[in-house]
Amino acid sequence: MTDIKSMLPEELAAWLKGLGEPAFRAGQIFRWFYRGAASFDEMTDLSKALREKLAREAILSPPEVARKQVSAQDGTIKYLWRLADGNCVESVLMRYQHGNTVCISCQVGCRMGCAFCASTIAGKVRDLTPAEMLDQVLFTQLDSGAPVSNIVLMGIGEPLDNFDTVMRFLELVNHPDGLNIGMRHISLSTCGLAEQIDKLAGYRLQLTLSVSLHAPDDETRSRIMPVNRAVGVERLLDSCRRYFQTTGRRISYEYALIDGVNDADWQADLLARRLRGMPAHVNLIGLNEVEESPLRPSRRMAAFQKRLEDRGVTVTVRRKLGSDIDASCGQLRRRAMREAERKI
Ligand code: SAH
Repeated sequence: MTDIKSMLPEELAAWLKGLGEPAFRAGQIFRWFYRGAASFDEMTDLSKALREKLAREAILSPPEVARKQVSAQDGTIKYLWRLADGNCVESVLMRYQHGNTVCISCQVGCRMGCAFCASTIAGKVRDLTPAEMLDQVLFTQLDSGAPVSNIVLMGIGEPLDNFDTVMRFLELVNHPDGLNIGMRHISLSTCGLAEQIDKLAGYRLQLTLSVSLHAPDDETRSRIMPVNRAVGVERLLDSCRRYFQTTGRRISYEYALIDGVNDADWQADLLARRLRGMPAHVNLIGLNEVEESPLRPSRRMAAFQKRLEDRGVTVTVRRKLGSDIDASCGQLRRRAMREAERKI
């Protein structure tokens, strides 16, 4: 069975040719995908014989809604999708003034081990395919009726640890016959795989790169983000500097404030010093508590923000959406896993 939904139209055309079908069918099928067709049977402008042939040769297994939570506060919707093999991943639809944004996952679980993150607790199960990433956008749109104009890769998993898949996903959503979403409407968040950031820079994409920094000093960062033990803040920021030089795109640094861990004045001072001279934007996040973790949200958000601003750093505080529905990183999947464990 071939995963034709992960293909670009020209690849689909070549594949169809192999089945003895004319290339123009590729455009028809490709467009059906983006209209949210859940089966080949829905592709009514194809002959019945071709639809049957496609069903025999290709997989088209849309995810099922395993759980759905709608925030009463702000209309945020969180989806837990069940994939064809039974694994689950999450997406979140957020409604902003500048358009509907969907936050999607790129792996089942994660192997990065960040101490504050629910997605990584049970490790990585597998990478998603481009089609499985795409389906999260398509079926969120279809189920909610909300047209999506922005995509953020900030769900479960580390995008730069599933590099080729993510690149293909970007090509698909960016394609004029696909979703036609411009790169400037896409954000990619990474825990800071320096080599991969260098590789990404080479593509010169106009997307927004977010780097989850969370601490300006190696001791703290290595404690809460094991990935730092191999890379280190200095080398990470060198890659970030090069990224800006190559792409001209300002990087956004994520910083979740954790009580007594990364919220001291000296850490604000060091952060400001380390970012000096590079166009940067710090996004402060209130820590979402994870049941399995002893880490607690900082009470110094305003003071930390002011201290950074006083030192010339551009700072925003992330608005919290959907806090009544577990709408952050891996929490819904975790909850479903815990409940399943209790049942056993
Ligand atoms: N692997 C990528 C993207 C997934 S996480 C990355 O690390 O960037 C998206 C963002 O949410 C990251 O900045 C991550 O550090 C942050 N995050 C994870 N768990 C969190 C929590 N419990 N509270 C606040 N932010 C969290």
